[in-house]
Parts: sequence; structure tokens; C-alpha cells
Amino acid sequence: MTNARTESTILSNGVKMPWLGLGVWKVKDDGEAERTVTSAIEAGYRSIDTAAAYNNEEGVGAGIRNSGITRDEIFVTTKIWNSAQGYESSLAAFEESRKKLGLDVVDLLLIHWPVKEKYKETWRALEKLYRDGYVRAIGVSNFQIHHLRDVIASGEFVPMVNQVEFHPLLTQTELLSFTKSNKIQLEAWSPLMQGNLDHSILAEIGAKYGKSPAQVVLRWDLQNGVITIPKSTNPVRIKENADIFDFSLTAEEISQISALNRDQRFGSDPDNFNF
Ligand code: NDP
Repeated sequence: MTNARTESTILSNGVKMPWLGLGVWKVKDDGEAERTVTSAIEAGYRSIDTAAAYNNEEGVGAGIRNSGITRDEIFVTTKIWNSAQGYESSLAAFEESRKKLGLDVVDLLLIHWPVKEKYKETWRALEKLYRDGYVRAIGVSNFQIHHLRDVIASGEFVPMVNQVEFHPLLTQTELLSFTKSNKIQLEAWSPLMQGNLDHSILAEIGAKYGKSPAQVVLRWDLQNGVITIPKSTNPVRIKENADIFDFSLTAEEISQISALNRDQRFGSDPDNFNF
């Protein structure tokens, strides 16, 4: 049976990564992260997306350990924050993340944002961690095509993943096609438009399949070949967001959803951020 547990993509280096993960931005480290991760794993999630900047890596690690699943059944992503970028400082930041998570090896390590003058040195550190076996895959986040070209030209490895803001109001068609042709897996952050799901076409399409607007959007991600990491701390919505593997949108429905695009960001512009 297809479900969140079994459905994975294969990254360019052969590593399997689940199509669905749980996002944990803004989930607190006071017990909430641990509870949320445990309930996601119970609901079938096998991938968790955290970051040093989310200040909840300890809770995420505890949630994974308490869930009773074995280490190789779960895919854990973390990210190097902007203030830690550079070669030596990224190595040190990774070591801190690894300790907080309580893991020997992290599945995917990303550069959180393309900090000018820094991201190429940061990428060198990620390449070293990958070569040394501390991370199973390396990638970037919030990289535009020109950032990707820059890293591809100077680095030893092509990033395996690019995690970017991606949803029906921001369909990123050029970036998606560039990443596909370079075997870089695109991953959607804020896939649920941070909860702004009130678009009648999503409800209309959902009604046909007995699915919610959130489920329709997450299914649209999968059928676009994009990994998706919705965030919820609510056990009912956590379950709902994983129940997307038993229906398919038609090509026309996919186009109708994509037609919502307005190049609208809820987050910062990767070419113009100040943090
Ligand atoms: P999402 O687009 O996932 O939306 C989360 C919001 O939607 C929450 O308010 C949640 O509320 C609500 N929600 C969740 N499920 C449903 C549902 N089924 N129906 C209605 N509302 C729902 O936002 P995020 O910004 O959190 O993005 C997801 C993840 O992406 C982050 O958690 C993080 O891991 C990653 N991210 C990465 C960034 C980067 O720079 N690399 C930047 C931003 C995010 P509730 O919790 O109450 O259910």
C-alpha cells in the first residue's frame, strides 16, 4: 500500500528521501517538539525537517528516540544558520546540531539561506561532512537559479536538494525545471501557504475526492515531483496531511491549481533578505 512510510524519491546520490516530511519551524522545545514528532511518526511520517535556527533539535531528537522506530527508518534534515556560515564555523555548527539531535549521522544537511560571500565556503564544509560520512546527503535552501549555478561551477558536488518556498501562489516554474534538469530535488517549504488555504478551487477539487484544501495542495506538490513538509502541531491535522497517497489529481486539476500563481511570497526574497 502506498503511504507516507513507503513513498520516497531517490536523490542523485542514491539516497532515499520520503516525499512527505513534518516541518517543525516555530514548534517549541518545551515538550511540544517531542510530542509533535512522536505523533507524526505514529501517523506514518518518516521524515522531519528542523534547523539549528528553530531551536528545537533536542526535542526533535527526543521525539525520534521515544517513538520506538529504528534509526534507519527515519530521515532527519537540519540546516546551517546564516550567522554560522563560513568553513570552520559551519563545521562547528553542524557538530552542535548533531549533539542536540543525539544522532551519529544526519540524513540531510542544508545551507539555510544563500548568504552572499559566505555560501561557497559553507558549501565546502558540507562537502567535507558528506565525504567524511557525517551526513548522507547535502543540499541548499532558498537558492535561486544563479546561486545554484554558482555552487555547481565551484563545488565538487551538485546539491542534492534545494528547499524553497513553493505553493500554488508561488509556483517557481523556472526554478523547478532548472532543478529537474540538474537532478536537484526540489522541496517545498510553507507548502500550505502558512495556513492561507481559502481558495475556492482547492475546496472544489477536494470535494470531488473527499479531501481538504490542504490535502489537495500537498498532492499537487507530489504530482509536481516536489517533496513537501507541512507543519502542524495538531494531531488531527498531522494525520490529515499524511493522507494524500490514495488519490490522484488530473492534469487539468493540476493546471487549475497552478493557475493560482501570483509569484507571492509569505517569506523573504532570497535575493534580498537582511538576516
Ligand atoms: P505551512 O505552509 O506548513 O503551514 C503551517 C500552518 O498551517 C500552521 O499554522 C498550521 O497550524 C496550519 N495547518 C497545518 N495543517 C493544516 C491543515 N490540514 N488545514 C489547515 N491548516 C493547517 O508553514 P511553515 O511555514 O511552517 O512551512 C512548513 C515547514 O517548512 C516549516 O515548519 C519548516 O520546517 C520549513 N520552512 C523552511 C524554511 C526555509 O527557509 N528553509 C522557511 C519556512 C519554513 P497548526 O499547527 O495549528 O495545525
